[in-house]
Amino acid sequence: MTKTERTYLDWNATAPLLPAAREAVLAALDSVGNPSSVHGEGRALRMLVEAARRDVAALLNAAPAHVIFTSGATEAANLALTPDYRMGRTPLTIGRLYVSEIEHPAIREGGRFARDAVTTIPVTRAGLVDLEALTTLLAGHDKAKGLPMVAVMLANNETGIVQPVKSVAEVVHRHGGLLVVDAVQAAGRVSIDIAALDADFLIVSSHKLGGPKGAGALISRGEVLMPAPLIRGGGQEKGHRSGTENPAALAGFAAAARAAVADLAGRNARIGALRDALESGMRAATNDVVIHGADVERIANTSFFSLPGLKSETGQIAFDLEGIALSAGSACSSGKVGQSHVLTAMGFDAALGGLRVSLGPASTEADVARFLAAFSRVMARRRAA
Ligand code: PLP
Repeated sequence: MTKTERTYLDWNATAPLLPAAREAVLAALDSVGNPSSVHGEGRALRMLVEAARRDVAALLNAAPAHVIFTSGATEAANLALTPDYRMGRTPLTIGRLYVSEIEHPAIREGGRFARDAVTTIPVTRAGLVDLEALTTLLAGHDKAKGLPMVAVMLANNETGIVQPVKSVAEVVHRHGGLLVVDAVQAAGRVSIDIAALDADFLIVSSHKLGGPKGAGALISRGEVLMPAPLIRGGGQEKGHRSGTENPAALAGFAAAARAAVADLAGRNARIGALRDALESGMRAATNDVVIHGADVERIANTSFFSLPGLKSETGQIAFDLEGIALSAGSACSSGKVGQSHVLTAMGFDAALGGLRVSLGPASTEADVARFLAAFSRVMARRRAA
């Protein structure tokens, strides 16, 4: 294998830029004007931004007026997770934030809440938010300090496990709380309807869909209950997020959102078949492999597995040397591989390493075959060591 032959199996970290998104970005980059300007150039870009808003709204069956563009999901999370809300003109305080133990750091860090105002919700051994524990936590919530807010993801970025968000919403709303749903890994992989999910806010990110990095959105259920802005200034995005919009990034985001809703079922069937072949291949190669979440609902593209005795970091490097880009699930910005907080939350030994393969629309049978050949070689070297 030459050095340049690489197999990219890390779509949950970021998806390769779609050709349609690239074209849309480049076309918008060449457009002169500021979307807030009243002249023709400005109006043309305003039209582009508003068209992007419609496309992103369609991904979640939400109203375009309820989409606030941000620089990514992390910013959207920091916008939504705040004690300071307004119900129309009336200030409304959120007293405590409850986040599931398996949330991405963008949520787990608690946004603008003080650390001691954040409580974690445990997950079950199966990797699902513990509804009983959530009910107990909310029953004990002190409403005198403000309403409860709960943040739970729709699909986990490491395991791909789909969370019982509808049931979570039922518990949260029964206790008069607000529900923020991180739909970053679920968007384009399961069909999402903000009303059917009964979420108050959804968070999505462009680069997980094949759009450019650095664009995302916070989508609200209505327009009455809104968080205090995180970024103040010129009042763009109806005052919810100031700063000149990035039309090129938004055009690319929109192209990716359009692609994500097209033929979802067909795409999932194809990607799911590849993932199943990959997992059967690993099981055929060794009885030792543990595939996390195999017995519960998962998004079709993700396989998170452990090989007892193989550390995440060692495994990741071994596959990288084989030309395979996969992930340990949770990489810090330093590139250092930390222990998977998801596996720990599920009750696994802290020493158990996890490796994540995540596929996408451009993944092929040849990719799976190359992965399995590398898997066999990694296993053989381990046996020989
Ligand atoms: N939430 C989840 C589940 C993610 O996987 C990620 C990205 O890794 C984020 C949030 C953060 O997204 P962004 O890179 O757009 O800030």
